[in-house]
Amino acid sequence: MSNGVLAFAETADSGLKKSAWEVVGAGARLAEELGSSFSAVIVGEDTTDRAAELGRCGVPRIYTVEDPALARYTSDGYSAALAAAVERAEAEIILLPATAMGKDLGPALAARISAGIITDAVEVSAPDGGLVAVRPVYAGKTRITVAPAAAPVVVSLRPNVFEPAAEGEGEAEVIALAPGFGDGAIRTVVKDVLAPEVRKVDLTEADIIVSGGRGMKGPEHFHLVEELAEALGGVVGASRAVVDAGWRPHSEQVGQTGKTVSPKLYVALGISGAIQHLAGMSSSRCIVAVNKDPEAPIFQVADYGIVGDVFDVVPALIAAVKEKVSS
Ligand SMILES: Cc1cc2nc3c(=O)[nH]c(=O)nc-3n(C[C@H](O)[C@H](O)[C@H](O)COP(=O)(O)OP(=O)(O)OC[C@H]3O[C@@H](n4cnc5c(N)ncnc54)[C@H](O)[C@@H]3O)c2cc1C
Repeated sequence: MSNGVLAFAETADSGLKKSAWEVVGAGARLAEELGSSFSAVIVGEDTTDRAAELGRCGVPRIYTVEDPALARYTSDGYSAALAAAVERAEAEIILLPATAMGKDLGPALAARISAGIITDAVEVSAPDGGLVAVRPVYAGKTRITVAPAAAPVVVSLRPNVFEPAAEGEGEAEVIALAPGFGDGAIRTVVKDVLAPEVRKVDLTEADIIVSGGRGMKGPEHFHLVEELAEALGGVVGASRAVVDAGWRPHSEQVGQTGKTVSPKLYVALGISGAIQHLAGMSSSRCIVAVNKDPEAPIFQVADYGIVGDVFDVVPALIAAVKEKVSS
């Protein structure tokens, strides 16, 4: 087997996900460093259009697997589809996003193809000709550098960390695979998806997140968090304390038992910065915290900190952002 790199391009109903461009961008750079072949795989529906779109970024070869059985994600179906692409591409390094789907798919694929797995990588490179990945451990307190002991290896990449592939004028060779999903190959069938709410951008892929904590004092004050998020063009997140209190849905929870996010801007309003919260957001590029306690741990990771009452500071921030946007 050659040391080919294969990137899984995740799709949603709306098309290629942002993480698809990131995984493909990281895969192309890694393959170049390794001097190895590079390809991508798209699974599900409308794969022809999506492959044409992805091909414009210069990925040389795209495998597609389209089958009615893959219309909705299942571990069985997608891991079987990816396994077929891994075999065809002779891939030794399989990259996928550490999204909700990727967190399920990665281990299922690794088990299916007897591969090792490195999860939630924030860096991948090949300094000495072999893959090396960096991943956070101990709830984000520190980072470790890991290298696979053997090939193949599945690596999931934290969303919003890797530079996405840029769309250009490229055209990929598209190879349709039809591995076949006979009786019993797919043991679970998704019959219906009950979307909890309409959210414009997935929290894990958002560039800007404004999160509220217990310092917001009650659900009736979260309109301030929402207004600031809207003014900045971002989405709302929350600490576990407010989710447990029923002020906000669990889908908004950031942290160890919620979502891991890496936005360009993370604004924490009335959040203390407990280690379990930091585990989910400390890799954000720029962190702004508002807290009335100058000793709050959130200030240890914040790039900008405002010591003050959220009920004074947030309305002023909203007004300032709106004025800036309109001028
Ligand atoms: C196993 C486990 C998993 C966990 N997972 C998560 C997780 O995924 N995500 C998560 O968030 N937590 C998680 N937690 C809980 C975590 O330990 C904290 O309890 C939680 O993050 C606290 O939320 P908070 O910061 O909103 O509330 P608090 O800790 O109560 O902090 C409120 C903050 O608001 C400030 N404040 C109060 N009033 C104002 C005001 N008027 N203006 C400005 N600031 C004000 C206070 O100074 C304080 O710092 C987990 C805990 C455990 C044990």
